Amino acid sequence: MIRRLCIFGVGLIGGSLALALRRGGHCREVVGCSRSEQHLARAVERGVIDSYSLDAVEAVRDADMVLLAVPLGAMGPVCTSIRDALPVDAVLTDVGSAKASVVHAVSAAFGVAPSGFVPGHPIAGTEQSGVDAAFPELFQDRRVILTPLETTRKDALDKVRAMWQAAGAVVEEMSVTHHDEVLAATSHLPHLLAFGLVDSLARMGESEEIFRYAAGGFRDFTRIASSDPVMWRDICLANSEAILEVMKHYREDLDGITEAVKHGDGDLLLEIFRRAKAARDRFCH
Ligand code: NAP
Repeated sequence: MIRRLCIFGVGLIGGSLALALRRGGHCREVVGCSRSEQHLARAVERGVIDSYSLDAVEAVRDADMVLLAVPLGAMGPVCTSIRDALPVDAVLTDVGSAKASVVHAVSAAFGVAPSGFVPGHPIAGTEQSGVDAAFPELFQDRRVILTPLETTRKDALDKVRAMWQAAGAVVEEMSVTHHDEVLAATSHLPHLLAFGLVDSLARMGESEEIFRYAAGGFRDFTRIASSDPVMWRDICLANSEAILEVMKHYREDLDGITEAVKHGDGDLLLEIFRRAKAARDRFCH
């Protein structure tokens, strides 16, 4: 049972976690903090949080769990604002989509990462954002990756694991570096491809016509290009090294497909498409 949960950024992820914990009776009180009073008031109205403060120091007072659910670029400034106010026994965790940058931001803000800091990342989301997009089932049966540091206290890790399990998630652990490499391939690259493809088509001369005749496949492939641009800019900047590595690999494979089309190499195309179909069918079903 969490006594007082303080959430920085009551949007899709922070709001959904609050809803799940409140619905299950796992949290006595939830306090929100962000930049917009209008957004926070809406969160109270929706029953996502009990109260809010625009003052970070006020918000963390007496909290036993503090969740950072702001865009990656805002993690550092938020941590700096609570540096002297975080209760000593409080557990600090985050939901950032890239982990090394958050660890760096927290360490820089506090001088050294607090022993109660547990980096985390729920592998769940939608292309919607803001508190109105939040729903309590978002994490049901979805994975949450925790990347504890050498300095992380065991009781803090246990508490964060229990919190996500209470929200319905399956919790796993891995190193910060491994997380960032895996997510660069499985999440960050697909988002870059979707954003890039839609932008490229939209800037073509007959874009109106292209979109008018776009069917299901186009919608499936590009759904994630409706995701929040600020969030994805921050992710690309935060995990650039791993993203560049996986993009280099993908670019080489794309060159291979281009060559196969250019030379009418149907056998190679068939081989690639069969391999891809088998892999997707195996992993997604
Ligand atoms: P979101 O719905 O846009 O919510 C972000 C919240 O942060 C907003 O409520 C916003 O409220 C607040 N915020 C933004 N900038 C801020 C700042 N400078 N200082 C204080 N508060 C600020 O975004 P989200 O999808 O929940 O993403 C939040 C985090 O979860 C990100 O770090 C992202 O990497 C991670 N994540 C996202 C997904 C996904 O699929 N969406 C999945 C896993 C992890 P105000 O406008 O009131 O400030």
